[in-house]
Amino acid sequence: MLDLTYEAPKPKVISGAKEDWELVIGLEVHAQVASNSKLFSGASTEFGMEPNSNVSFVDAAMPGMLPVINEFCVAQAVKTGLGLKAKINLVSAFDRKNYFYPDLPQGYQISQLYHPIVGEGEVIVDMAPGVARRVRIERIHMEQDAGKSIHDLDPTMSFVDLNRTGVALMEIVSRPDIRGPEEAAAYVGKLRQIMRYLGTCDGNMQNGNLRADVNVSVCRPGDYEKYQATQDFSHLGTRCEIKNMNSMRFIQAAIEYEARRQIAIIEDGGKVVQETRLYDPDKGETRSMRSKEEAHDYRYFPCPDLLPLEIEQAWVDEIATSMPELPDAKKARFVTDYGMTEYDANVLTAEVENAAFFEEVAKGRDGKQAANWVINELFGRLNKEGHSIGESPISAAQLGGVLDLIAKGEISGKMAKDLFEILWTEGGDPAEVAAKHGMKQVTDTGAIEAAVDEVIAANPAQVEKAKANPKLAGWFVGQVLKATGGKANPAAVNELVAKKLGL
Ligand code: ADP
Ligand code: MG
Repeated sequence: MLDLTYEAPKPKVISGAKEDWELVIGLEVHAQVASNSKLFSGASTEFGMEPNSNVSFVDAAMPGMLPVINEFCVAQAVKTGLGLKAKINLVSAFDRKNYFYPDLPQGYQISQLYHPIVGEGEVIVDMAPGVARRVRIERIHMEQDAGKSIHDLDPTMSFVDLNRTGVALMEIVSRPDIRGPEEAAAYVGKLRQIMRYLGTCDGNMQNGNLRADVNVSVCRPGDYEKYQATQDFSHLGTRCEIKNMNSMRFIQAAIEYEARRQIAIIEDGGKVVQETRLYDPDKGETRSMRSKEEAHDYRYFPCPDLLPLEIEQAWVDEIATSMPELPDAKKARFVTDYGMTEYDANVLTAEVENAAFFEEVAKGRDGKQAANWVINELFGRLNKEGHSIGESPISAAQLGGVLDLIAKGEISGKMAKDLFEILWTEGGDPAEVAAKHGMKQVTDTGAIEAAVDEVIAANPAQVEKAKANPKLAGWFVGQVLKATGGKANPAAVNELVAKKLGL
């Protein structure tokens, strides 16, 4: 494992207030389970379908329909729990959370209040190379998503799309261990990364497959430490919850705004009222949505349609053995196996597909060089053109082929970049394309020597200057490279120029 320094969370101190205040943040992240069918029905979960086409009788809450638990979704939740080093509860149970909403035909959401499937865990949040923070996970429970009300299609009517109704969600609840906007974004980013590695949630925030309710409060310096020592929430300030955030940037902006709003209230002698708020990205403000509801408002009770969910330890163990290598382990391995910096390892492991691509390029080759090419040339180019690795016009085998030509001394670094360019636009086999374009580095010392002799003979004045000031030898190297049409091996030219000039 990497040698990480675990910093105490760095409380963000808000400037401009009369007194010093610190931020306390806890997140409830709703992650859509990556599954082809819904939590309690066989209806498809495919995104972007014709409204109300992915709706079974169960989803539409037709009378007499009974929910049937989807084993795959349960396995995905267990896998996610294991990925967060959390306790897996072999017995959990579903409860009904009752409320009325047009996009909730059942009149209740099936969730897990009293007995969640996953208990306490933790997430290591990377803040900078070598610096990480721990955020405790309180629980993960499974629940159904609601549908979607559409208000902007018609001036007088609203529409309801039930395609999303009944899709499985995992609600991942953190302890209030997050101390600033950047930490909150980094925490969501790490959760997303872990779940994408696991294949349990695709993490697509734009489609709403990963969204967060952000709880924010402010306290005075020293109070959080009292909370940590006692786990007594009364040391913390009253929190407000900002609902349904699906952008890292907005999460940060909303926290910042909300903290300042609360501080202004307290410093004016007022009290923060616990409530649910919405963030308005256009105005950059949060506004009140409703006063905070309590569990009893929902009249939770065990869902009579579903038996308690009992799973076996052997099944959990089986899932545990099928776990892929997770980001922290992969990053540590990249640093030790390939001798790369933690920074580079971070870049290469950010997405699991990127890491796999890199390893294919690096296999049997110089890992550091492979890392440089993948990060600088390939990722640089992909980013510029807004492509993901899956859309790369150059395959790992092709890039590996380019590196092989460099390693054999057949092409220079400069030629390799030109070759990369041609492969990017025209494709082809690296060795064949290099041959076709006459890319061949001259390593034959005889030929290089002749070129060096020629340049030296033609420039006696420069020779005198270089002998007095060896730094000027570079000029000769440049001339020789030019004379050989950039095909001479620069290292060999350097060596010969120094030798011939007697430096
Ligand atoms: P509820 O059931 O009312 O939503 P929870 O106890 O489940 O309340 O807490 C919800 C989230 O709020 C958790 O992520 C928790 O860490 C966070 N939280 C609780 N108290 C505070 C606080 N004082 N400041 C910030 N976040 C908090
Ligand atoms: Mg809650």
